[in-house]
Amino acid sequence: MKLSWKQFNLELKYIFKIARGASLVEPIIILELEHDGIIGYGESSPISRYHESVETVSDFLKIVDLSRFESPFQLEEINRYLDSLGSGNTAARCAIDLALYDWVSKKLNLPLSKYLGIGNLPTPVSSFTIGIDTLEIIEKKVHEAEKYPILKIKVGLDNDEEIIRTIRKITDKVLRVDANEGWRDKFVALEKIKWLKDQNVEFIEQPMPASQLDDLKWLREKSVLPLIADESVMSSKSIPQIKDAFDGINIKLMKSTGLHEAIKMINTARAMNMKIMLGCMIESSVAISSAIHLSPLVDYADLDGNVLITNDPFEGCENENGKLKIIDRIGHGAIPKK
Ligand code: MG
Repeated sequence: MKLSWKQFNLELKYIFKIARGASLVEPIIILELEHDGIIGYGESSPISRYHESVETVSDFLKIVDLSRFESPFQLEEINRYLDSLGSGNTAARCAIDLALYDWVSKKLNLPLSKYLGIGNLPTPVSSFTIGIDTLEIIEKKVHEAEKYPILKIKVGLDNDEEIIRTIRKITDKVLRVDANEGWRDKFVALEKIKWLKDQNVEFIEQPMPASQLDDLKWLREKSVLPLIADESVMSSKSIPQIKDAFDGINIKLMKSTGLHEAIKMINTARAMNMKIMLGCMIESSVAISSAIHLSPLVDYADLDGNVLITNDPFEGCENENGKLKIIDRIGHGAIPKK
């Protein structure tokens, strides 16, 4: 098995601003795993919150030695080997994981969803994300997003109410709210959630910092809206620790190390009667297509990373007005654009 990779800079249509930072260009790594004449494509969109960058991804990939394995069909053994290299590097590992699944399903001549046994189950409707911005730009974005039936609104700075009021003047569609750990005071968070319920918001993602678990437990007891964990949950092992603080989890391939662990997270969350959302970072169609194949297993999708960019180097499964379409192509279906 031969690995090769290169950096690619995804360009965003608008500056993407959330409670902890902003960006206009998102550097990613595209990885190729070549074996037996077949190429599996993978992707890392490193998350600075978890101390990853394109440099750390590249450094990690340099120490990975897959020549000790005979083929990508040894997925479980390969995962144990990658585990032995230490914790962290979740987006770097995701690139390898996605490439392995792409390779295996291509080798078996199956679309990834069929390989996973998901068959033709329907996909959920994806939300479209509105980042933090000036009220004028937010208004413009909401008009542009008219065809998307569900909006995910980023809040967590000091003008949450203004943002929601601006959006509610334009539309009454379903809103989901993501504070990205931006609310620090549990009493303030509770008041905000009560107000957001009156604004017909469906649920709140990560209202407070992951480090404030006791406050989050307190908040969940009193909250009038469901709370979904994002920054508080990385892998299946972290779900039991947070189950009293949240009603559901947001799985992202870049946090979980890829599909292998994402499936474990789905099973763990289901066993604990929790809701499941499948989200993303700013990503190309490689990672988004992989997630779309998995999406029939979850309750909520937020897989718009590739529609927020203007220079996707791949084409694959599509997000058409929020409707996620599994493409009839072997593997995850993402191929380089000509
Ligand atoms: Mg989030």
